[in-house]
Amino acid sequence: MGLTRDATGAGAVDGGLALRRESDADRVIALAGNPNVGKSTVFNGLTGLNQHTGNWPGKTVASAQGRCGTYLVVDLPGTYSLLAHSAEEEVARDFLCFGGADATVVVCDATCLERSLNLALQVRELTGRVVVCVNLMDEAGRKGVRVDLDALSRGLGVPVVGTVARKKRELQKLVRAVDGVLAAPAAPPLRIRYPGAVEEALAVLEPVAAEKAAGRLPARWLALRLLDEDGGLRAAAEDYLGGELRTDENWNAAIARARAILRERGISSDRLKDLIVSSLVLAAEELANDCVRCEHTGYSDADRAIDRVLTGKWVGYPVMLALLAFLFWLTIVGANFLSDLLAVPLFRVQALLTALFTALHAPDWLHGVLVLGAYRVLAWVVSVMLPPMAIFFPLFTLLEDAGYLPRVAYNLDRPFQKCAACGKQALTMAMGFGCNAAGVVGCRIIDSPRERLLAILTNSMVPCNGRFPTLLTLLTVFFVTGAQGPLASLQAALLLTGVIVLGVGMTFAATRLLSATVLKGAPSSFTLELPPYRRPQLGRVLIRSVLDRTIFVLGRAAAVAAPAGALLWLAANVEIGGMSLLAHGATVLDPFARLLGLDGVILMAFLFGFPANEIVLPIIVMAYTAQGTLASLGGMAELHGLLLANGWTAVTALCTVFFCLLHWPCSTTLLTIRKETGSWGWTALACVLPAAFGMALCSLTACAARLIGLL
Ligand code: GDP
Repeated sequence: MGLTRDATGAGAVDGGLALRRESDADRVIALAGNPNVGKSTVFNGLTGLNQHTGNWPGKTVASAQGRCGTYLVVDLPGTYSLLAHSAEEEVARDFLCFGGADATVVVCDATCLERSLNLALQVRELTGRVVVCVNLMDEAGRKGVRVDLDALSRGLGVPVVGTVARKKRELQKLVRAVDGVLAAPAAPPLRIRYPGAVEEALAVLEPVAAEKAAGRLPARWLALRLLDEDGGLRAAAEDYLGGELRTDENWNAAIARARAILRERGISSDRLKDLIVSSLVLAAEELANDCVRCEHTGYSDADRAIDRVLTGKWVGYPVMLALLAFLFWLTIVGANFLSDLLAVPLFRVQALLTALFTALHAPDWLHGVLVLGAYRVLAWVVSVMLPPMAIFFPLFTLLEDAGYLPRVAYNLDRPFQKCAACGKQALTMAMGFGCNAAGVVGCRIIDSPRERLLAILTNSMVPCNGRFPTLLTLLTVFFVTGAQGPLASLQAALLLTGVIVLGVGMTFAATRLLSATVLKGAPSSFTLELPPYRRPQLGRVLIRSVLDRTIFVLGRAAAVAAPAGALLWLAANVEIGGMSLLAHGATVLDPFARLLGLDGVILMAFLFGFPANEIVLPIIVMAYTAQGTLASLGGMAELHGLLLANGWTAVTALCTVFFCLLHWPCSTTLLTIRKETGSWGWTALACVLPAAFGMALCSLTACAARLIGLL
């Protein structure tokens, strides 16, 4: 990891993160902690920001920064240790070592304190300006775990605060403790005892390290890192302390002498790491024994019983599908209601706008571009596309908050292993449901580069929120027949579940294909912790995600859908040779589209929908309506009629559904893939792969339909 200069040029090296200080008086507070201990909840509580929280380990893959008064709070990726095995550990370690944080808050989990203490001890070896935040005190209380915070504070030599991060008020205690730590002289770094040979080597190196570091890094900690021949920190430390150290005889000789002591005692680099880790584990165990009392031990029995059902061999999959179908059903019922509610006022506004334009004697084309083009597409996106998104994702987030996602990953681990991929891909796939670009960034939780690429390249095979309403609308219009009310919604929900299962199946197929060809390799093993089930924060999740999603979709509708609507109106109304531009485009594409069971208009809509999938259906409708504007949103029956009148059959609808599920990712996702992989080659493959799968599926469907006379 490269070291970069502080963004303000204030001179501190920021350990790979560009700090966004507003002034030199800002003090930097680093937040460190194991995954899933509530670190992001603490961060959000302190800064008022809205970092992704969720009940599964590994979701915080990037560092975030936010302000809390004059403090700049930096949320580091969740990590179990600072001994740098993974990229996240390296980021956390480098920031804590070289980032110039004024204080560090280590967030610990009160329900399993011993494991959290491992990291707390490592941070204490590094610095004295530490506050330990023992979070999840409510959960610990329910489980009969009592933590003696005073004893812990004495053991660690720094302030310890017990919190329930979900309650914002509690965090005031934490801020006061940080104020106190910054106002007082720093506590000396903690000295953990290591086995004899290591201590002997340290005795040689520590004085030299103390002299050269001159207080900028803790001597014992630095000496310990320098003992490790392949620890990778030497160069970074030498850069930090001044390049001339590289040629300093004293320094080099002391390092060589200390390392020789270890070699004489038969301690290899690996053995040294083991010794360090086991000393830390032992110290954490001793400290936890002193501070933690468990009043009853059967506290996770209920969780285990639920796990037996949710991750059971026979029941796990049906429950997963039933849950998904249930979420879809709730979404559909709610969305129908909301759509009706929104459509009426939105289209009343259109009538008002038209009246206004007429009163102002505005030219027809201006009314066309702005009202019939931009405004109508925007209204369509808001009334038809927004409701399902605004309902499904909060529901999904509730499941995530309760702790269900890692169970899904557990269930899907075996099929992913069969495709020589990593079970964590199930988690990134689930993130893709919300937004494929977010899913692609989430792939950072996968350590192996090969497996991360597999996950990135196949992420867009599950529909994001821009495609999901299109699928829903087409399935409802064409395949929910004869049913009314809740029964119709149930049919639609089951069909949509089927389409998602198809997407997951295609993800497996594509992953398998890639790992047999361009990304050959054996699957790596990983440990996925099943976190405890937690009662989701109903109010917070609902309000935040509805608001966030609404704002996001509205923003995108304004930024992309409205201008696209204006352009489309022009394309549909500017004629060359007696035919509109739109019709010309559709005619050119038509022969190829027919092979896929589509028509030229549909294919063109997907091409136009490259910036945002939300606008595909509006474009199709606009292209079909004779007057070149979107039809009124009279409802599903009207849409059905329009599509039938333009030659659609059930096969066309099915092929459109397939193509919507499997085509090129949107521009945002592709740019994200470019950023994450650093390669245009992989980006191109990520574009071609789902499109090839989609085209193959559509043309097979079309062929089969022709054979049996349906097309
Ligand atoms: P991170 O991975 O450490 O950033 O953890 P998050 O902040 O995402 O929190 C993990 C889960 O624990 C989320 O479902 C939070 O809502 C929940 N959580 C966080 N703090 C508390 C707490 O003090 N009490 C309870 N009951 N749940 C909490």
